[in-house]
This record gives sequence, C-alpha cells and structure tokens, in this order.
Amino acid sequence: MILELLAPPLCWSCRAPAARGAPLCRACRRLLRFLGPEPVALCGLPVWAPVAYDGPAGELVKALKFHGAKRVAAEMAALIVANAPATMLAGTLVPVPLHPARRRARPFNQAGLIAEGLSRRARLPLVDCLRRTGPDSRQVGSGRAARLGGPAGSIHTTAAAPVNSLLVDDVVTTGATLAACAGALRAAGAERLAAVAFARTAGR
Ligand SMILES: [Zn+2]
Repeated sequence: MILELLAPPLCWSCRAPAARGAPLCRACRRLLRFLGPEPVALCGLPVWAPVAYDGPAGELVKALKFHGAKRVAAEMAALIVANAPATMLAGTLVPVPLHPARRRARPFNQAGLIAEGLSRRARLPLVDCLRRTGPDSRQVGSGRAARLGGPAGSIHTTAAAPVNSLLVDDVVTTGATLAACAGALRAAGAERLAAVAFARTAGR
C-alpha cells in the first residue's frame, strides 16, 4: 500500500515512470500514430480507430488483454471519444464478443470494457447481444478462407439487434470478425452498422 503510494506508476510500453492515471509516459504517448478522422471501408462497414496498431498502441492492447489493466480500457475509450468524427459516435454500442475458450482464461471481454468506457463518456446506450461459439479459429487453419470462415460461422445474437448498431473492438485487422458480427446483427434487425476500435492495422 505504502509502496503503491510512493512508487510512480509505470508506462505500459517502456516501463518508465508515467504520470498518475496515465498508462503511457509522455514520450510513448507522442509515439502513438494518429490515423485522422476519415473512416475506412472494411468488409462493407465504415470502420474508424484513432491510432495505428503498432508501437505503444500495441503494448496498450497487450496490457488490456493479458494483464487485465482496466484503466487502460478507460484511456482507450477516452482517446476514441476525443478524436472520433461526430458522425462515428452514434447509435447503440455492441461489443465484439470474446471466444468462450478465451473467456475461460480471461474473466472479462476487453471490447466490452472499452464499450463501457465509451458508453459513459459519449453517453451512448450499450447492448451486449453478441456471443461466439464453435472451435477456435486459430486451430482451424491459417489460410485466408479459414480466417474468414473461422469466426464467421460462430457469432450469433442473444437478443434483437439495435437498429443503429456501432460495433466496438480493441483492434481491427482484416475486418473478418467485424463482418461476421455485422452479419449476425443484420439478421437480428440492425439496419445501420459501423465499427469503432482503439487501433487499426495501417500501412505507413
Ligand atoms: Zn513509455
């Protein structure tokens, strides 16, 4: 307890001291690569993320995923809200579901934590209506067809989907998981769909 009070919190990326409440030190925060206000189209969805998935952004994603650093989720939500174009932050938040095999190892869904932070900060409703079942896609195969088909067949809704659904995830890479989620939401009544994430893979 006393040690906690005396020792400054450490940066999740470089382990240097960071300001209290900040998951990154100032130097690492400056290394975040901001992607600008324009969403990209991925698998037919407008997708927006504030930063590129590399450097300190990747370390923050790992901190949230593997160390349960919930404060990191709040910081990610803050970065999304502070930088998102107004048109993106609309509708009802729907977190991308965690695979049940991973849920056993991790008691929380990192996308759900970010969505909760967004809900508080942007005052948007949140509906946790997606679930994932079936074999882990990483064990099915590594080809493009396997990656597209792996998560796609196994996502379903547990309730009616919000008409205007805004999917939330920590990281977006190919968009295949988002596409599978969007398919399930459309089948359950969603009409307008978009996605926000903390980070997105982006070329230089
Ligand atoms: Zn640092």
